[in-house]
Amino acid sequence: MTTLLGKTEEELVEFARTIGEAPFRGRQIYRAVYGRRALDIAQVTELSKDLRDKLNSIARVTETRIVDVFYSTDGTRRYLLKLGDGREVEAVFMPEERRDTICISCQVGCAVGCDFCMTARLGVKRGMTAGEIVSQVIIVLNEVYGAGNEPPHGTNLVFMGMGEAFLNYNEVMKSIRIMADENGLGISPKRVTVSTSGVIPRIYDFAEEPIRPRLAISLSATTEEQRTRLVPINSKYTLAELMKACRAYPLGERERLTFEYVMLDGVNDSDEDARRLVKLLNGIRAKVNLIPHNPAPELPYRSSPMERILSFQKILIDKDVPAFIRKPRGQDISAACGQLAARPQANG
Ligand code: SAH
Ligand code: SF4
Repeated sequence: MTTLLGKTEEELVEFARTIGEAPFRGRQIYRAVYGRRALDIAQVTELSKDLRDKLNSIARVTETRIVDVFYSTDGTRRYLLKLGDGREVEAVFMPEERRDTICISCQVGCAVGCDFCMTARLGVKRGMTAGEIVSQVIIVLNEVYGAGNEPPHGTNLVFMGMGEAFLNYNEVMKSIRIMADENGLGISPKRVTVSTSGVIPRIYDFAEEPIRPRLAISLSATTEEQRTRLVPINSKYTLAELMKACRAYPLGERERLTFEYVMLDGVNDSDEDARRLVKLLNGIRAKVNLIPHNPAPELPYRSSPMERILSFQKILIDKDVPAFIRKPRGQDISAACGQLAARPQANG
């Protein structure tokens, strides 16, 4: 069986050729699965019934299926998805007034082992293929808006679900190139953010990519010792080397490098931490997202209280570092940052 999703237009043209069909059939399939988000070969109505039957016997669009959808009171939807081999991943849909954001996974589990993150508890099972990564976006858009219907506003995409994108670099980049194509899904790289815990060699590779989304760095600590404890990859890729890579990162004209900082009560949230953060970011066109820690029973942390987060933010802003406090989304269905893999308490 061949899986169509994850193939580029050229690869689908080649596929058409190998099954004895004209190359333009490959392009028709491409338009249908990406442009119209057809998830079933029966919906590729550009093709004759005979050709659809033939395709059905040798290929499918994707093997990803919805296992469950959890609906939050704030409009957030969390999707539990099953991949072809039975492994499960999650994606989250977050509506906003002017745009929607879809948070997607790129690995089954994660190997980085951050101490404050539920996904870390799974370890890593495997990286997802480009087709599996793209399937999440199509499945979510179809569930929310119906197959083939244009979403009413733009879609932002964040690689902030399960997994470390820069430990599955090639498939993630392939999925981004596929999704960027205007004849397909048409999700501009400007609207895509890849988040990394700091896999330094890939930051340098990413900087060279011709099609390059926004980059976010999950910092969450301001000293080597503290960061190694919270984000263990720091023992290999140190904070000092990470900041060097960030300084060398070629930003676009209006682009800022985003730094994510999870606020952990009494751990990394002091005024001193804030002042060290300002120093670390000195000379980088940066923006900081302060993320109140999202709890799970298994995690040994509490979020910093809001007044602490506000004081921390003020220190940054007073030094001209733009800093924003991330509003938790879908906490009631365990859909917030770092909660994926936790079992939801409520199923609405
Ligand atoms: N692996 C990538 C992307 C997925 S995690 C990365 O770490 O960047 C997405 C974001 O959620 C990261 O910034 C991470 O620091 C944050 N995060 C993880 N666990 C969290 C939790 N329990 N509460 C709040 N944010 C969390
Ligand atoms: Fe992996 Fe990101 Fe969670 Fe760290 S925060 S364990 S890198 S998913």
